[in-house]
Amino acid sequence: MKEIVVTGDRPTGKLHLGHYVGSLRKRVEMMESGKYEMYVFSADMQGLTDNAKNTDKIKENVFEVIKDNLSVGIDPERVTLFVQSGVPELTELTTYYLNLVTLSRLKRNPTIKEEIKLRGFEESVPVGFLTYPISQAADITAFNATLVPVGEDQIPILEQVCEIVDTFNKTYGETLVRPKYVLPENKNSRRLPGIDGKAKMSKSMNNCIYLSDDTETVRKKVMSMYTDPNHIKVTDPGNTENNPVFIYLDAFCKDREKYESLKNQYEKGGLGDKVVKEYLFEVIEETLKPIREKRKYYDAHPEIVEEIVKEGTKKARTKAQETLQKVREKIGVEYFNN
Ligand code: ATP
Ligand code: MG
Repeated sequence: MKEIVVTGDRPTGKLHLGHYVGSLRKRVEMMESGKYEMYVFSADMQGLTDNAKNTDKIKENVFEVIKDNLSVGIDPERVTLFVQSGVPELTELTTYYLNLVTLSRLKRNPTIKEEIKLRGFEESVPVGFLTYPISQAADITAFNATLVPVGEDQIPILEQVCEIVDTFNKTYGETLVRPKYVLPENKNSRRLPGIDGKAKMSKSMNNCIYLSDDTETVRKKVMSMYTDPNHIKVTDPGNTENNPVFIYLDAFCKDREKYESLKNQYEKGGLGDKVVKEYLFEVIEETLKPIREKRKYYDAHPEIVEEIVKEGTKKARTKAQETLQKVREKIGVEYFNN
């Protein structure tokens, strides 16, 4: 039997280079291998957890993130693409799982803690936001996923998902499948920093290069990138460690010799930021060009995208219904014979 892969993106904006190296590139690689049954979804319900009063943003982006996935090469013939709210079984599963997790455990989740801080929620955090790892447990277990390709920020969430699986199975008998996260091999791709040098490129932080940005926008963004602030004169030795320009090169550059040689030169001194940025721009463009081409097609055919998601959602729903049925039987919320 094929291993099952499930992964999703919040439609809180278009997808960016962080998503690409953190998860999308891996998704395509896994798809190409032909070894997996795969599901990719637009996590609109999860997007609403911190955007309840900003529903337009979610609506505008539901199909955009699907288009981003299609543009990087996800093939709807080989991958089921769906929208989370189209599978209400996930919400029912979430409700049963809610009872298996304590409030203090939720509050301890380091990713949630960080994201609450980032959004300035403090005590006013929406309950739905605090509990989104539980809904993620539903998304993953509904499809019996064994593998989840994600960036580093998702590790604590996946750990919590495994705890929920273990608690469920211990309480009601072996039912749910325990998932594993799959990180990119390249360490710098696990949490790509923003162009401002902040720890994570994130839709919510306005520090992204989007997969759908045009050439001029990419050039401007790359040329404005944060580098080593102490590298003032070209002759100064530079730092490549916390320098997003070199981190991006490590994540994207296929010519490893060239990357190593630029890195050495920069560290020794004698290489200007402008020259490195020009090269990085070329490298990123090489990645983005084919993505833009594919996107053009889907932009011109919204009805095709809609059809793909409609069909995918139907398929996903059938699968989630099977899991939900088992869960209901195990818990005992089946009262009628017919
Ligand atoms: P939001 O700010 O709304 O949470 P986001 O930019 O964090 O958006 P998500 O939709 O939460 O994006 O993440 C989708 C996937 O992309 C996850 O697997 C996540 O780990 C990965 N990812 C997001 N940002 C990065 C990044 N900067 N580097 C590597 N992976 C990332
Ligand atoms: Mg996120």
